[in-house]
Amino acid sequence: MIYLDHAATTPVSKTVLDTMIPYFSDKFGNPSSIYEIGREAKQAVEDARESAAKLLNCEPGEIIFTSGATESNNLVIKGVAEAAAYRLQGRPHFITSSVEHHSVLDTFKYMEKSFGVEVTYLPVSKEGIVDVKDVQEAIKENTALVSVMYGNNEVGSIQPIAEIAKAVKEINSEILVHTDAVQAFQYLEVDVKELGVDMLSLTAHKFYGPKGVGILYSKKGTAFVPQQKGGAQERKLRAGTENVPYIVGMVKAMEEAVSKRAENAESITEISDYLTKRVMQIPEVELLGPVEKEKRLPHIVDFIFKRVEGESILINLDMVGIAASSGSACTSGSLEASHVTKAMGYSDLEAHGAVRFSAGALNKKEDVDELMKHLPGIVDKLRAMSPIE
Ligand code: PLP
Repeated sequence: MIYLDHAATTPVSKTVLDTMIPYFSDKFGNPSSIYEIGREAKQAVEDARESAAKLLNCEPGEIIFTSGATESNNLVIKGVAEAAAYRLQGRPHFITSSVEHHSVLDTFKYMEKSFGVEVTYLPVSKEGIVDVKDVQEAIKENTALVSVMYGNNEVGSIQPIAEIAKAVKEINSEILVHTDAVQAFQYLEVDVKELGVDMLSLTAHKFYGPKGVGILYSKKGTAFVPQQKGGAQERKLRAGTENVPYIVGMVKAMEEAVSKRAENAESITEISDYLTKRVMQIPEVELLGPVEKEKRLPHIVDFIFKRVEGESILINLDMVGIAASSGSACTSGSLEASHVTKAMGYSDLEAHGAVRFSAGALNKKEDVDELMKHLPGIVDKLRAMSPIE
């Protein structure tokens, strides 16, 4: 199989797996237990917290371990909304972008519908980038939180998070700034002080760690109401027994990602560039997202294949053992065009032709050559059958 879908998930690295294994068996204690193996598990979690904090340039007490970015994002939005509603004695206002991951957008939609919070969904440019001026102009008296992702999971556009945070704080330093840094962490420096954010979400399985574990960075003093009731874990901010092997594995994966970040970014950029050059040789294909390299994540390249369904391309690629992804989400049996592509100004029809390739440590240029043995023929065949002129 040729795997070109690293933005969906990555395999657990061998060293990460080796680090995790003892915590499933020999060192299986519950960190809340007072006897030796409990204390040992607790120590492992606290050591992991300390390492994670160093890597993000924050204090260990500002790290909350979660089950992944979906939970972190839900916790930010619901928790801040609840705290802000008490503080403001009324309806809080939120600002986000129209190209966020569903774990952000759907949570905001839920909060609007069920709790009457007010949300501004910022537009993006044709390249998928938020304008800092738009953020500033959207700020209101009751704005509690601005949540804009660092790097987009479909088109790879990088948002100017540090500029956004600075601009927001200039207007009102009490407004919280959150970023979903899930796709960015593997390749871009993530220093919470440099970024100027109050909250930041991560998930381990995008950087060769296990699925089902993540981080919420929350700056000391940030007001949010915990959403899970139960035990006193994570300083009472996230109840539930800590997933010790996964936490240990995630932080090992973070260390590996950070130690090879620049090197990995360079090699993946080379593969993505090669892939882009080759795919763009197919007629009627458009690269989505920014053209300038500094404005895009190294691993994600998303294309529109005109007059073809992206899903049909994916099925045909799968038949020859190539795994890629589309921007479309299959919702209640019907294929919905990607909200990201549509927000960037493409029509429904164009958005349906999107296919995302995301390279990773498993790939070599030869994989692109193999892809190109099949892709032009698949596109030709589908276009010949297409009713769209
Ligand atoms: N945010 C972004 C940008 C993502 O790409 C993803 C995963 O696809 C998530 C959040 C959710 O992560 P998880 O499913 O691990 O909770």
